[in-house]
Amino acid sequence: MSDYLAKLNPEQREAVETLDGPLLVLAGAGTGKTRVLTTRFAHILMSGKARPWEVLAVTFTNKAAREMRERVAHILGRPVEGLWLGTFHALCARMLRRHAELVGLKSSFTILDADDQLRLLKQVMEAERVDLKRWPAQGMMAIIQRWKDRGLTPARVTPAEDTDYAANRGRALYEAYQERLRALNAADFGDLLLHMTEILRTHPEVLADYHRAFRYILVDEYQDTNLVQYYWLRLLAQRPDPQPQNICCVGDDDQSIYSWRGAEIENILRFEKDFRGAKIVRLEANYRSTRPILGAASGLIARNTGRLGKTLRPGRNDADGEKVRVVSLWDSEEEARMVGERIESLRRSGHSLNEVAILVRAGFQTRSFEERLIVLGLPYRVVGGLKFYERAEIRDAMAYLRVLNQPADDLAFERIVNTPKRGLGESGMRALHELARAERIPLHDAAARITEGDALKPKPRNALRELIQGFARWRQVNAKEGHVVAAATVLEESGYTAMWQADRSPEAPGRLENLKELLRAMGEFQNLAGFLDHVALVMENDENAEGERLQIMTLHAAKGLEFDTVFLPGWEEGLFPSQRSLDEGGEKSLEEERRLAYVGITRARKHAIISHAANRRIYGNWSPAIPSRFLDELPEEMIMREGASASRGMRDTPSVFGGGGLLARRPRVIEAGAWEVKERPAHSASFARGERVFHDKFGYGTVLQVEDDRLEVAFDKADTKRVLDRFLRKASE
Ligand code: ATP
Ligand code: MG
Repeated sequence: MSDYLAKLNPEQREAVETLDGPLLVLAGAGTGKTRVLTTRFAHILMSGKARPWEVLAVTFTNKAAREMRERVAHILGRPVEGLWLGTFHALCARMLRRHAELVGLKSSFTILDADDQLRLLKQVMEAERVDLKRWPAQGMMAIIQRWKDRGLTPARVTPAEDTDYAANRGRALYEAYQERLRALNAADFGDLLLHMTEILRTHPEVLADYHRAFRYILVDEYQDTNLVQYYWLRLLAQRPDPQPQNICCVGDDDQSIYSWRGAEIENILRFEKDFRGAKIVRLEANYRSTRPILGAASGLIARNTGRLGKTLRPGRNDADGEKVRVVSLWDSEEEARMVGERIESLRRSGHSLNEVAILVRAGFQTRSFEERLIVLGLPYRVVGGLKFYERAEIRDAMAYLRVLNQPADDLAFERIVNTPKRGLGESGMRALHELARAERIPLHDAAARITEGDALKPKPRNALRELIQGFARWRQVNAKEGHVVAAATVLEESGYTAMWQADRSPEAPGRLENLKELLRAMGEFQNLAGFLDHVALVMENDENAEGERLQIMTLHAAKGLEFDTVFLPGWEEGLFPSQRSLDEGGEKSLEEERRLAYVGITRARKHAIISHAANRRIYGNWSPAIPSRFLDELPEEMIMREGASASRGMRDTPSVFGGGGLLARRPRVIEAGAWEVKERPAHSASFARGERVFHDKFGYGTVLQVEDDRLEVAFDKADTKRVLDRFLRKASE
């Protein structure tokens, strides 16, 4: 038997070696579905059944495609060229370039990004005299995208499907939008699949060509395909007799987490119906995770109804391992500290940072972990997104705060002067710059002065005056009520928050969450200047360092991946399950959240650490957070509870991560009505010159001077600072 087949169990081998006819591999997490698909690819080539370009292979991400290419080459022992291997979008784009003229495009068509799409649709709606205040373009965009996900061209949208959006003009607007795209020789993302499917449907000669070309079709993460992707696959796979329909899809109904993007679990059932005689292979041995991790994940997902039903058992010889940790923390800062400390001790004991991941439910959650990791000097990467302080809305908000702090900050002023739009066109900006240069004054002052004359048109002049007057007012708020209130006021009164509230794109709610998180972060600092210094410090964290990095990403982005150690923070009602899923109320959205939890736990090979905080700070006020219902759904015998509110008597159990030290926390006093929780050490520690210390925000350092409760400390990663002794403890390096 070939080497690569010997590395499979009998069921996996069956899935690899059954080359003719439709095949569905339905199996739980970590059972080797992706490995089967990759090996099958190699096996097809090795056995001479097809040449590399005669296999069509679909992965969920570009990264997964790269990995598959590498593994196939590895098994073959030589590089492979000319593969049709990639995401649905990448493959369709490549095909569509060949046949663009069939849908009225040239092969050089451009693919529009989300911003361009929206701008174009707005123009179309304006031309059709739609009241955009009442019917925002974003809403229409979402409807069009859903139609495209379902393979509906404008002609296929029935009157019954037409929405009451823009007074039943949805279909007409869709049609006009498609016309505009065509006139511009452009396609949006959804068009790639829509056009290609339409071409295959209506041009038998093209379809016949592809039937000859692709002998085998392979699809990973099949549970997350949408309808148009399914149609596209079915068209390509349903070859006329006597050619076999060699399509192999692998998936797990319990890991379907993209229904909000149009994915349909029902595609699994459709497969059996549309491909008669389809063989179904089930894999049951999980080779990824330890027994407790599997047990915890299986127990949780068992709460979902309407599952196809699968068995999952440990397949590793070394499946015994420690229980899943469920750690209760006081607040999100302490949660970040716990995660940071455990990662440090993992690293000290020789674990690679590449094998550690923090998986969050919502993007804003990355902030507290990022700051902690920076303090500890642990290199990290935010996968599939930007680091917190690099996100556009955070940069904008920071620019407002920088101008608030320092009106002469021209770079910051320039960033926000026309965000949100204040009608300041190119000529207005030029006039502003010229005045600033001529008078040698900052842009902010030039703006104040220019509104006194008539260099600007009335609209931008008034808007600019309002902004400058706003800054004067906000500075007073800052002096009187503190920087957090001031920041909230700035974002509110400048119209910045409103700009995102009006935005209906799918990213907008996340951006608003990030802005709230920014205010929470500010609450941890004494004043505005202190906060701005801190962020400057965070931003200069060395970006390009080579070497190991741990990864932070959303649960959605973690699909298909695996790590030795996985942290799953923020398991609280309203965060996970998300508020949205709770508001919608239906079991359906809750079940999708539960699948997401299942995906999260099953990413871990050896250690899974779930945590929740008992308190979250909202605008400086504390509000208690209720532990996620998912925590109660984990089978008790698979988990070990730790931390203050460990309700079931398990606290202080020694941890493989270096003892229960992280449970020993300082007493805290919450002062009624205060903005800050004051932390006080149990007994005032005394520090000596030259002593090594650890500060919660600035990390390790050496004491230079001591004056009563104030110390001057040279921090390893943050210059020399004066700090209060109660924020310091003796370093345990
Ligand atoms: P997911 O549902 O999370 O995508 P999957 O079913 O695709 O998981 P894989 O990622 O292919 O699972 O495999 C999980 C892990 O188990 C991988 O590290 C893989 O190398 C290993 N594995 C798979 N099959 C075997 C086997 N027969 N023997 C040993 N290890 C295996
Ligand atoms: Mg997989």
